[in-house]
Amino acid sequence: MYIRDLDRFDEMTNISKELRKKLARVAYISRLKLAERQISAISGTEKFLWQLEDGLYIESVLIPEKDRRTVCISSQVGCALGCKICATGKLGLTRNLYTHELVEQVMGIQRMLGEKISNVVVMGMGEPFQNYDNLLKALYIIKDSDGIAIGHRKITISTAGLVPEIKRYSEEGHQFQLALSLHATTDAQRNKIMPINKKYPLDELITASRAYAQKARSRLTVEYVLIDGINDTPEDAHRLIKMLKGIPCKVNLIAYNPTSDEFKRPDKARIQAFSDIICPILYAPVTLRLSKGDDIDGACGQLAGTPKYNTNR
Ligand code: SAH
Ligand code: SF4
Repeated sequence: MYIRDLDRFDEMTNISKELRKKLARVAYISRLKLAERQISAISGTEKFLWQLEDGLYIESVLIPEKDRRTVCISSQVGCALGCKICATGKLGLTRNLYTHELVEQVMGIQRMLGEKISNVVVMGMGEPFQNYDNLLKALYIIKDSDGIAIGHRKITISTAGLVPEIKRYSEEGHQFQLALSLHATTDAQRNKIMPINKKYPLDELITASRAYAQKARSRLTVEYVLIDGINDTPEDAHRLIKMLKGIPCKVNLIAYNPTSDEFKRPDKARIQAFSDIICPILYAPVTLRLSKGDDIDGACGQLAGTPKYNTNR
């Protein structure tokens, strides 16, 4: 199914006719229906709006770069965690995605592109660790050499910080990369932008993340969205350094993408100043990401799954 990309059992000529007939009687191969495809004139980033079999919508994003094709996939229809910075958070949760719906986001884009996808990030709509079992089943299919054959290291799960699942993921010893959406250096700050912090406050989160990172064979990615006047002061930078001490990690600074009037993106000088404080002191690689695709609402935090049709809710 994956290597030859077939969608009908009667095309599977390497299995017996009898088995083909039986399979067609009891199952079918489901593909996602493309509802809309938008391309960013600025960065070449593409956004795909898919319609699921029950009529709901989700989005995926393709980020083409010189030597890689990264697909950002959704894990849920909407999201229950309600982060204040995020358009998906405003939708609430409708349902988890099934395994095949996760895998098909990658297959579908690869099929349309006619080119192999090299990297997958689970950073679209939804909290992947709230859909733990389906997520891992899908990622192992995406990784498998009889599946889409994308290596462990080229697949990243991003979590808003579900502590029990971080522990479970660590204990089970999976090797997909893990990214943590940290975004704040005090509980008061984090409570304001990420309500999940009230359930799993920073000390628990950092303890679980440290344990994971010390055990994992690759560094934890720490995502930090810079929001003007909220978490971007020099004091924040110094607290961040202290907080990450001893954690094998790399830091992704992301400039806030506007999703509401409540928050603003800091100006370039403020972003640079933050980066200049942490870079020399933090013994970790730091990258500064000015998100691509914001002209088509396809950048981090902007996916709402409903550009034209708002029928999800
Ligand atoms: N639910 C997961 C993965 C999806 S969100 C998570 O929260 O980690 C992917 C990333 O985009 C997260 O780091 C999230 O915090 C960030 N994000 C959300 N809203 C954003 C915004 N308006 N600007 C920039 N990044 C944002
Ligand atoms: Fe959900 Fe992640 Fe958006 Fe928070 S940032 S609401 S966890 S998708």
